[in-house]
Parts: sequence; C-alpha cells; structure tokens
Amino acid sequence: MPKIPECDRCLLYSHNPHLVCVVHPTGPQGDSCLDFRLDPNAEAEELWQPERASYYNGELIVQPQQHWTREQQLELINWHPMFTGRCPQCNAEFDRDWSARVHWDCPECGWMDDTV
Ligand SMILES: [Zn+2]
Repeated sequence: MPKIPECDRCLLYSHNPHLVCVVHPTGPQGDSCLDFRLDPNAEAEELWQPERASYYNGELIVQPQQHWTREQQLELINWHPMFTGRCPQCNAEFDRDWSARVHWDCPECGWMDDTV
C-alpha cells in the first residue's frame, strides 16, 4: 500500500491492510497529504518510556516485576540481596535463611525492597 510515514500518526489512517485511509483508500498522492490529521493517541505512544515504566496522565509509572526485561532480571543478580546476600545500600549481610523470606528490607539502614 502506498502510504506515507505520516499515515501512522494520522487520525484517518485505517490500520487496515486493504485500505490506507478513510479519505484516500489507496493512499495519498505524492509524499505529503493535505488531509493529514495528527492522531493524539499515536503521538502519545511516541513518548519515550523506559522498559518497565509507562505514562499515565503524564506521570511516569514503574511497572511491577513481571514487566522487567531479561537484561534487567540478569542485572538484579548483581545487586539484589536475594542473590548477593547483602544490602545494596549499606552492604550489611542478610540472614541466610532466605526460604521463608518475602521482603528484603534492610534492618540496618532501612533500605526497602521494591522489586518483589
Ligand atoms: Zn542496609
């Protein structure tokens, strides 16, 4: 389909493989379109966001752990007390009885685990 780059951000774009847009079913003439209308939702998706966060009402919200990338999970091994046995903030050693542990808050410095 002869669509132009603007089509992806256009309110009139059909997102249909057989129809480019409502006004120009076979695509606009040339490389610009007089009927281009910026889609506010499409623009919002282009906001930069880190992997584990999203924008809600303009606020950057960090997602819970299940949205972490593999790289971030691997990185966790380097600093998280679950793996290192030490507080990432004050380096105090944690009790090694980890089996029953759910939270990793540090009793020494008050570091709070917000990853699990
Ligand atoms: Zn600590």
